[in-house]
Amino acid sequence: MGHLIDGKKWAAVSRATTAEEVQRLHAEGVRPMLVVVLVGEDPASQVYVRGKEKAAVAAGIVSRVVRFPASVDASTLLAHIEHLNRDDDVHGILVQLPLPAHIDEQTVIATMAPDKDVDGFHMENVGKLSIGASGFVPCTPLGVMQLLKYENIEVAGKHALVIGRSNIVGKPMAQLLLQANATVTVCHSRTQRLSELTRQADILVVAIGRSNLVTGDMVKPGAIVIDVGMNRVDGKLTGDVDFASVEPVAGAITPVPKGVGPMTIAMLLHNTVRAAKMRQKLITGVQ
Ligand code: NAP
Repeated sequence: MGHLIDGKKWAAVSRATTAEEVQRLHAEGVRPMLVVVLVGEDPASQVYVRGKEKAAVAAGIVSRVVRFPASVDASTLLAHIEHLNRDDDVHGILVQLPLPAHIDEQTVIATMAPDKDVDGFHMENVGKLSIGASGFVPCTPLGVMQLLKYENIEVAGKHALVIGRSNIVGKPMAQLLLQANATVTVCHSRTQRLSELTRQADILVVAIGRSNLVTGDMVKPGAIVIDVGMNRVDGKLTGDVDFASVEPVAGAITPVPKGVGPMTIAMLLHNTVRAAKMRQKLITGVQ
């Protein structure tokens, strides 16, 4: 039976550390502020934004949500982001994705000041991650690395396999594992003989967006299995990993819900406080 990696518990630990850092900043007259920009009425985005707002406030971070209708024109949105870039009270900016089809996501991301890009999606931060320089790292893969750290799971020298190559999860996940000295394989929808590869992985990170795609027969006995997937099936949240068949084979496994999801929010708060500290020049370039 695989050890259950309790993301909810570890997220609480991380958030408590962040809350202490916020208190220290308050004592120095700095009030970390996160602004979330939400365009349209997508129900899932509304839920995510509410979760982020609640968590930020609980940690003592000032949280503002700026809402635009789905019909907003790109120039209005970009002008507002530029306004937030200039506002010294704002430390972190997050634009909730996806955006309506008429707005180019990359243009919006590129407009954000890299030192306020707490999601780590700006090209400057992507480049920094790729050369191993200090920048903002996307919250979900950062949360996975933090979970591995909390659980004392050795990464160096291990064969880590990531399924998924999105800019948000798969690619930065692979970069972080590589930086931590794993030998990294990245798989995607065109990968052939996927299960042959997955059976060789000591650490398997699954970020596909297909419910229960990874089954027990695809997993090496004792492997660490991290399920990033969040799929709604008949109103129920499921991961990309078939927990029932994988858990008996795995050495350790994250559940869905209460696995990677809570860590993503915890890392958003961490990145926001880091942005505030960087502004105060309290730290320079520590992840
Ligand atoms: P995405 O942009 O849709 O990327 C999915 C990746 O999976 C793509 O690289 C795709 O390959 C690959 N893929 C699709 N079908 C596959 C298959 N049958 N076999 C192997 N690879 C396959 O999704 P994403 O944004 O990375 O998100 C992935 C999942 O994580 C989703 O369920 C999402 O909801 C979840 N997520 C969770 C959190 C969290 O906080 N827990 C945060 C972000 C995302 P191609 O590149 O070849 O198309």
